Amino acid sequence: MKVKSIMADLERKHPGENEYLQAVQEVLESIEEVYNLHPEFEKAKIVERMVEPDRIFTFRVTWVDDRGEIQTNLGYRIQFNSAIGPYKGGIRFHKAVNPSMLKFLGFEQTFKNALTTLPMGGAKGGSDFDPVGKSDGEIMRFCQAFMWELWNNIGPDTDVPAGDVGVGGREIGYMYGMYKKLAREYNTGVLTGKGMTWGGSLIRPEATGFGALYFVEHMLSKAGKSIKGATVAISGFGNVAWGAATKATELGAKVIAISGPDGVVYNPEGMNKEKLDYMLTLRASNRNIVAPFAEKFTDATFIPGKKAWSIKCDIALPCAFQNELNGDDAAELLAGGTWCVAEVSNMGCTPEAIAAFQRAGILFAPGKAVNAGGVATSGLEMTQNAMHISWSAAEVDSKLHYIMESIHAACVKYGTQEDGYINYVKGANIAGFMKVAQAMLEQGIV
Ligand code: GLU
Repeated sequence: MKVKSIMADLERKHPGENEYLQAVQEVLESIEEVYNLHPEFEKAKIVERMVEPDRIFTFRVTWVDDRGEIQTNLGYRIQFNSAIGPYKGGIRFHKAVNPSMLKFLGFEQTFKNALTTLPMGGAKGGSDFDPVGKSDGEIMRFCQAFMWELWNNIGPDTDVPAGDVGVGGREIGYMYGMYKKLAREYNTGVLTGKGMTWGGSLIRPEATGFGALYFVEHMLSKAGKSIKGATVAISGFGNVAWGAATKATELGAKVIAISGPDGVVYNPEGMNKEKLDYMLTLRASNRNIVAPFAEKFTDATFIPGKKAWSIKCDIALPCAFQNELNGDDAAELLAGGTWCVAEVSNMGCTPEAIAAFQRAGILFAPGKAVNAGGVATSGLEMTQNAMHISWSAAEVDSKLHYIMESIHAACVKYGTQEDGYINYVKGANIAGFMKVAQAMLEQGIV
């Protein structure tokens, strides 16, 4: 494989789609060596086929706001790869959503899902609808209009959407209600992240953050370190950040920072139950600001305009958005003595930041391994729906533990370098790639 020529071809076909090109480039660079040991992959043009989505649905979403004005947004569903199972991946509502962002997310999802040990292909969807400041009624009407277009292209054995940035339990509820009405199908397995009384799985709301911390525990124990007493900086304050902060606190770490688009809250005393609950209240307020946290809890301080990475910490956990931690942030963290960074957001760090962490020899793990517990538990939700049963929280949690342990083991297997350093980026990319590539090869030229 010639990474350069494949990338040049992709750039020509998808000019300016920077996040998508960044995600593909990272994967191709890390799998090149292994790929070249498999002439059968080269012959079947596995990489050339794998980097393009199977298909993309683009649609207009028109809805009426509270003032009675008609609003139009764009909606998308990208069915990226179905080699190992039905399409699976979240839906993102954010004003910056565009095809490049969703293609990068769908591509990453394909490898992430392969790592979970479960049979799920990769997909992603979303809209440039901005939930910030919208009323509950507006959110409902938008979700209904979105599903009006999408319903015909999804199904429990076809494509199973879930939440992502801007889409949580409330939005999944509104979308599921409309799906049933249009499809006259009552199979709950068509969406995951559902409410507990209508097919949702216990632990799914916590799963991305909890799974991330289980992964971090494995990383640390492999390196002979412990999370007990460590200081942790987290970006974001949504569902994923909440899950990560909750489990980190439970494991004895001190979460000293959470952040939002408005700035960072420095929280030197760490979290407690009241503070963790308040993170959920903040998220549900739809205002997208973190400052009120420091108004409510006087031991915390709000620093406007600053990122979580300006707070000196042992462990940094990006939990918000892609490329939220750049080269300068990495330099600041390293200067402050940070010794572990785990991406909980998808592609949370820029390539410069990752290179800096790896050069410094600190522990670093990529989103597709660290945050895979979310989609893995979606897979467990699908299984429960298909079996028409529900498992106890303890049962789901123990399966999540096992899955995160397997992902960690796969990263170590494929990512351990000759000098002993574990390159988790390489490990995750190769492990995910090998599974999808083998499946594609066995299914012929389709
Ligand atoms: N949006 C999440 C992710 O990035 C979860 C997807 C799912 O549960 O299908 O993996």
